[in-house]
Amino acid sequence: MSIREKSYYGINHCLRCGNKMQFHQDREGKLRKKCESCDWIYYKNPVPAVACVIINEDKELVVVKRLFEPCPGKWALPSGYIEIDQSPEEAAVSEMEEETGLIGRVKRFLGYYDGYSPIYEKVLSLGYLMEIVGGELKAGDDAEEAEFVKLTELPAIAFDAHKYFIKQIENELK
Ligand SMILES: [Zn+2]
Repeated sequence: MSIREKSYYGINHCLRCGNKMQFHQDREGKLRKKCESCDWIYYKNPVPAVACVIINEDKELVVVKRLFEPCPGKWALPSGYIEIDQSPEEAAVSEMEEETGLIGRVKRFLGYYDGYSPIYEKVLSLGYLMEIVGGELKAGDDAEEAEFVKLTELPAIAFDAHKYFIKQIENELK
């Protein structure tokens, strides 16, 4: 099985009409699954997500202990998938508030990380440096704990993408 075939494994029914999907080779020779009945094509793409690097006046960073998959019980940056009706910046602001109780705004884009995901195969994470403009730090529904930590006291971080984003601002935390 090719990587592409593997990637479509278990995807057999159309999300639109429920009929059977088959492999279909497009004009460029790329294999995708296509519905036999309504011709809808299922594109496998990386899933876009955001992660928030939140820093306070004491140069401490917000980390949250995750409650849900992937990696429950592990520490990470506040993060989440971008909803269909959100811009990446809006997703960052809302994830920050939901997971930490802090009201924020985007200060700077820190770059992207193209990483493996145990659930979605591939997640394209966008990192944002966030400024705190209000609220108080408390764990939201997705988190067991939320804390401000010094860079030197940083717990093990669950995701490579988050480690990468923290690395981008390391010098500003010293
Ligand atoms: Zn269909």
